[in-house]
Amino acid sequence: MTEYAGELMAEVKAKNPAEPEFHQAVQEVVDSLTLVLERHREFRDHKILERIIEPERVIMFRVPWRDDVGEFHVNRGFRIQMNSAIGPYKGGLRFHPSVNLGILKFLAFEQVFKNALTTLPMGGGKGGSDFDPKGKSDLEVMRFCQAFMSELFRHIGPDTDVPAGDIGVGAREIGYMFGMYKRLRNEFTGVMTGKGLTWGGSVIRPEATGYGAVYFAEEMLKTRKEELRGKTALVSGSGNVAQYTVEKLISLGAKAVTLSDSSGYIYDEEGITREKLAFIMELKNVERGRISEYAEKYQGAVFTPIDLGLKYNPLWDHRAECAFPSATQNEINGADATNLLRNGVYVVSEGANMPSTSEAVNQFLEAGILFGPGKAANAGGVATSGLEMAQNSMRISWTREEVDNRLFNIMKTIHEVCYRTAEKYGTPGNYVNGANIAGFLKVANAMMDQGLV
Ligand code: NDP
Repeated sequence: MTEYAGELMAEVKAKNPAEPEFHQAVQEVVDSLTLVLERHREFRDHKILERIIEPERVIMFRVPWRDDVGEFHVNRGFRIQMNSAIGPYKGGLRFHPSVNLGILKFLAFEQVFKNALTTLPMGGGKGGSDFDPKGKSDLEVMRFCQAFMSELFRHIGPDTDVPAGDIGVGAREIGYMFGMYKRLRNEFTGVMTGKGLTWGGSVIRPEATGYGAVYFAEEMLKTRKEELRGKTALVSGSGNVAQYTVEKLISLGAKAVTLSDSSGYIYDEEGITREKLAFIMELKNVERGRISEYAEKYQGAVFTPIDLGLKYNPLWDHRAECAFPSATQNEINGADATNLLRNGVYVVSEGANMPSTSEAVNQFLEAGILFGPGKAANAGGVATSGLEMAQNSMRISWTREEVDNRLFNIMKTIHEVCYRTAEKYGTPGNYVNGANIAGFLKVANAMMDQGLV
């Protein structure tokens, strides 16, 4: 680390105490930018990195709501408006008990670079609440979403800030929040993405992040004249991203053998077929059940409950060639990375945001495997949100083929830009550097053009 980078990180830690995920995300970007900041003295002089690290605005608010038995609850709501240099703030809302300011700041920070890579005009933001939708009735979720939006609506808009879904926020939650926004503002605009198909949503948006992560893996493999067909993949999570990752893997002739939730994981050596995936989708999206039910239904599949005493996650300890972490941050630690490499995994495409710890990332980079970091590999979701915004502005809807083609081409372009940028800056094959540098340059140049704001 250079002296400048060391001082910058010391300041980030002092100014943002108790936000380890934010420090981790910033550290990774700072490490990638050493050469860029040497070559472009103007970015240091104009304190571009220091400005990118500081959110343009942080909104934090109280969300009071009532449950079905009449008890009152108070949750905390957030929206981080991180950077608007290249477009309106854009990024998801996460509802999960682990949500706090530091986690949302890391997500908003990553979003700035990711959105820049999509080629679409979107700034970066993120938000959410420590509310847990799990175990709540539809009416409770609706009341919470309405209470959340009754404050958030004054800070967002189709040209200001356009939220979407993330962990715990799917079609149901987007619907309730959009309905409340419409009522409060008395306007029907594309203020959120991930909307239902009959009221402004885009085809392929639910599928986009998972499909995109698989397209990215296929592009990485092409650089070695290989393909996904015939390969075995470990997938974590069983929500939106994981489901469509498995679907696309099946279409491309690969075999997914694992899925998980916060209670444990299933291993199905025969592979998750389309029929089994349909069962998962019904179980998770409609019945809101647990992944263990998969092993009860399909003979040969094994459910392993989560063991918090273990220093590694056994999901990552099976033989495979590919891994698609699609649950949450830091779900692959150093021990997991060692297990993955030992088991023959040489393609890791991150569907989740920052699922690998710094130690795990360093192991992947040192081993020289094909490692697609989240801000590049999972950018298909927000890219398709950008396409939803474009369709809303024009008041038209594109076909499935059209949106899927655009998504595929965007993922191909992101891959190419990351690959070329890594090469140009002397670290061929390092997609982490490629993504961080390419995303940074786009935002930094826009900030330079717009003056000191
Ligand atoms: P969902 O809520 O649909 O699914 C999340 C899945 O991960 C669930 O299976 C959940 O299990 C599991 N999970 C979540 N938190 C934890 C935890 N702390 N420990 C163990 N398991 C956990 O979310 P998404 O699929 O939308 O998001 C997954 C990841 O992908 C996140 O990192 C998100 O930021 C990222 N992402 C999502 C995008 C999107 O378009 N949705 C776009 C880009 C990135 P359980 O139900 O038991 O909690």
